[in-house]
Order: sequence, then structure tokens, then C-alpha cells
Amino acid sequence: MTNTDINQHSTDISAALKAAGLQVTAQRLAVYHAVQSTPHAAADDICQAVRAELGVISRQAVYDALKAMSEHGIIRRIQPAGSAARYEHRVDNHHHLACRQCEKLIDIDCAVGEAPCLVAEHDHGYEIDEAEVIYWGVCPECQKKQANRNNT
Ligand SMILES: [Zn+2]
Ligand SMILES: [Zn+2]
Repeated sequence: MTNTDINQHSTDISAALKAAGLQVTAQRLAVYHAVQSTPHAAADDICQAVRAELGVISRQAVYDALKAMSEHGIIRRIQPAGSAARYEHRVDNHHHLACRQCEKLIDIDCAVGEAPCLVAEHDHGYEIDEAEVIYWGVCPECQKKQANRNNT
């Protein structure tokens, strides 16, 4: 990524923050960049990345920035069952594959094309804006580890 790209991108995030009625702060920008460079990271990992960029920042400030930005749809919060919340900058309709063993999470595009999973067969009167689908399984690396273990 060139410097121009990064600047261009910061401008976009600033605009998105302003549009959401959120103040543009160095902390929020740093948190966004951390989320962007390590998609599906948990808050603690994001905290470390932000500290590497900004120096001192309280854990609470990072949590507050994550909360404000996910509430306004600037980033997305994913909550896999039994694991810490993860954050990502990709906010379009997509799903996740989760490994039961190492908890690695990867993106997977919508099963049926473009956002049809938002059209539930019966919406029961709800206004649906998100469909959270997590496919659980075992990732290739963990499968390999398992196979090795069985061979010894
Ligand atoms: Zn795994
Ligand atoms: Zn994702």
C-alpha cells in the first residue's frame, strides 16, 4: 500500500465517522486501522496493535472506539459462540467459517449470491438488516495436526 492509499483511506474513514455523527479522533482512526490490518481480531489484539501505533491508549478507550464504530456500522462485530467478540472492517453481507479448534475465522461470501439471506421466509414483522451465519468446522491446519497426531 502506498502512502497515498493510506491518506485516501483515512479521508474515507474520517468522512464515515463524521457521517455517523462521531468525532474524528486519532484514537478512532488508529483503532480502525488496526481492525483493517488484522480482520477478525479480538479487542485485546486490537488494543496491542493500537498501542504499537499510538503509544499510550487505555483499554477502555479502545473498547469505546470499537463499540461506537460497530454501533454505527463503520466496522462489524462478530460474536462466535463461546469465543471473544471479533471485529472487522468489511461490513457488507458475508458470512464466516470458524475453526472449532484454533478459533480462526475466515470470510466466506454469501451462500446464495447477494444478500438474499436477509430475506427470511417469514420475517415475523421484524425489520431485518443483518444475517449472521457462522459455519463451524475444523480448518485445514488443524486437520493436518490431527492427522499427524493419529499417525504417531
Ligand atoms: Zn484451526
Ligand atoms: Zn468477515
